[in-house]
Amino acid sequence: MLRINADAYHIVGIDIGIHHIRAVVTNLNADIKASETLTLTEQINQETLVKHLIATVSHVLERASLTPKDLMGIGIGMHGVVDPEAGKAVFAPNLGLRDVSLREPLEQVFSVPVHVENDVVAFALGESWFGEGKDTGNFIAVNIGEGVGAGIILNGQIYKGASFSAGEIGHTTVDMNGPRCSCGNYGCLQSLVSGPAIARQAAQQIREGRASKLTDLCGDDLDAITGEMVDRAARMGDELAREIFLQTGRYLGIGLANLINTLNPRKIILGGGVTNASDLFLDELNATIQERAMDTPAKAVSIVISRQGEYASAIGAVTIVLNGLFAPQIYV
Ligand SMILES: [Zn+2]
Repeated sequence: MLRINADAYHIVGIDIGIHHIRAVVTNLNADIKASETLTLTEQINQETLVKHLIATVSHVLERASLTPKDLMGIGIGMHGVVDPEAGKAVFAPNLGLRDVSLREPLEQVFSVPVHVENDVVAFALGESWFGEGKDTGNFIAVNIGEGVGAGIILNGQIYKGASFSAGEIGHTTVDMNGPRCSCGNYGCLQSLVSGPAIARQAAQQIREGRASKLTDLCGDDLDAITGEMVDRAARMGDELAREIFLQTGRYLGIGLANLINTLNPRKIILGGGVTNASDLFLDELNATIQERAMDTPAKAVSIVISRQGEYASAIGAVTIVLNGLFAPQIYV
């Protein structure tokens, strides 16, 4: 039997989000040896992003008492549209960045191969290697956090589309009369179920006269309400907060029913910050799917929550490197 010494080499996985850079260093089994989260406070540009990345990789290696020589590679999961072949971020709307080369500067500093992917594609790959997607080649990993996006695995292969933007379900319309979305469209799924969308709906209803414990939680500053606060209020029995999560379940159910009818997946794996409140909306979500999706695909699918936690996309970035080395057939 061929066995691999998992500790012989290490991999750095980086998740570049809107407010955080998360990095892990793992062995070949994706066991985390050290981790680091950098909170992005100021507006970043191309130069500062690369500077932060280099510093984060250096720190996490130091923490694990490793050097770049111990690395098999560095994987980067970047939000927005990514060109994996060119190793760059094509467009990251939430950071306002275009055409940022990520591979080149990191390869120059660390002298190891650097792979760049969309963060949700990375999340899906991580689930297929080490998480809920291990037992099936047909699943969709959906991230619901600051934004909403999906990584699609069909017949054991990542599906990326003609120009690397497949899976942008956050910008599919689920309410013709819904609020304006960051993409300019109205009633997108993301404008109704993301963390900021949940916070915004709560603030709006309080402005319209609804009473809520959130008024105390935010210290009377309605603009300071966050998705986490709405979660906390719901657990304190707050009626408004509970209603908003039920509505989140319904809209998410509509969005997922469309996916289920189109792609007939075996599993949908949910991750991202909003799933910390999944117990508050999962029943409503499942009921909506039963109501709205066709019988045959609805019976075939199960909706599960990722167990990878806040480093799910960083672990996913590690698997980008593993995938290139050990499973070229999944990578097209
Ligand atoms: Zn949109």
